[in-house]
Amino acid sequence: MQECHFILLGATGDLALRKIFPALYRASLSGLKPTITACARSPLSTQEFIRHLSIKAKEYVKDLDPTAWESFTTYVSYTPLDLTKTKDFQALKATHPNTIIYFSIAPEFFAKACQNLAAVGLNAPGVKIVLEKPLGTNLASCQEICRQISQHFKEEQIYRIDHYLGKQSVQNLFYLRANNPFLAGLLGASYLDHVQISVLETLGVESRGGFYDPMGALRDMLQNHMLQMLALATMPANTPIEDMRQVKLEMLKSLKPLNEESLKTQVVRGQYSASQNFKGYKQEEQVSPNSQTETFVALKLELDHPNWQGVPFYLRTGKRMGASLVQVVFVFKGPTQTLVYTLQPQCSLKLQLQGMGALKSALDAGMDAYERLILEVVAGNQALFNHQNELEAAWSFIDPILESWQKGLTPLLSYPAGGFGPEAAFALLSKDNRAWITHV
Ligand code: NAP
Repeated sequence: MQECHFILLGATGDLALRKIFPALYRASLSGLKPTITACARSPLSTQEFIRHLSIKAKEYVKDLDPTAWESFTTYVSYTPLDLTKTKDFQALKATHPNTIIYFSIAPEFFAKACQNLAAVGLNAPGVKIVLEKPLGTNLASCQEICRQISQHFKEEQIYRIDHYLGKQSVQNLFYLRANNPFLAGLLGASYLDHVQISVLETLGVESRGGFYDPMGALRDMLQNHMLQMLALATMPANTPIEDMRQVKLEMLKSLKPLNEESLKTQVVRGQYSASQNFKGYKQEEQVSPNSQTETFVALKLELDHPNWQGVPFYLRTGKRMGASLVQVVFVFKGPTQTLVYTLQPQCSLKLQLQGMGALKSALDAGMDAYERLILEVVAGNQALFNHQNELEAAWSFIDPILESWQKGLTPLLSYPAGGFGPEAAFALLSKDNRAWITHV
């Protein structure tokens, strides 16, 4: 049994109830013994909170064992706390040397929460903090949040979550090549024509329009999850796990900045419009009827790295697409030879060679991402979390795109909900004599 004290800020929120508590429960079944202090603004007693949590658990925890759940909740207590009030933090105490404070709260509270935690000594060496995205909306705001946090916590205490990095299927982008040296040889500039990365969702913004509208697809998906996938898929296959963050950073720094011309010709932004079956983005709840937010982005980029010279990468992500899919397609030089690594809906690897039927193998997607990441924090292993420098490198690549959009240099194109993006996204590849590959 591994013990720890888990202080969860934002415990009544959607993320905490839907992802974090279920992950803590599953971790408790496999040997973790967390004492949990749940904190939020709502004035609840521990009993009332656990009643609410248990109702949500029935909805969000698969195969809930009522006896194990009851035993898990005996270690949960609730402390009402306003993040902006220093005196409220006096009720918090670190009750174990392995204390983890999880910020499941809006980033605008991060600095104040850090300051208040420090005021009651909850930034002592050994205390770890876990930060949810988004950390900033551009390079300057990311640096500012990180600066404020660093006044109270050292880098080795900070675990910045990108939950994609907790997915076994995402880590396999690296392990596929690391564990199979013949593939590492094939998946590089000598044999590849290009690489495609797609993250497509059939869902629209659902009830989260208020959160999504100020963000958009570029910030919500591409800046973080997709650039991290790209870094994992391209870093040298012999990278030791302890060097992973440093080498991912090198890959992110090798992204060739888009110039004035390529910002116009290599980036497509789109927004879904009403179709027969779906309403348009502007008609969604909590979305401005004049919204200029993109729900789709496609772009072509290259890496300035010896292993990847001359290999273009095409990335696309969108909501209300014709399929739900997370896929990386390695397209070899020569006709119709591909290695398709599908991460969602089912993890699989498909090799398509000329003159042969496709060879397809199903893969195990592994443990839930949040459970894995929580266990990594408990163990004090930062490899699967973003270093501040990685975030900054990613924002440095994204900032010029955002700025060109703000100047109106790239039009916001509409695409019918349920399709695969605006026509320009197809032209992005067809003008290079290539086409998107979508293996559903
Ligand atoms: P949410 O449902 O709005 O929950 C916010 C939580 O913060 C609630 O527990 C709320 O407590 C608490 N809170 C708000 N103001 C407070 C204050 N002044 N003092 C103390 N507590 C306060 O948000 P969420 O969806 O869980 O998201 C939380 C964070 O995770 C956000 O940064 C979000 O961007 C990020 N995130 C969310 C998701 C997701 O799927 N939901 C995914 C990735 C990242 P009361 O309810 O008691 O007021």
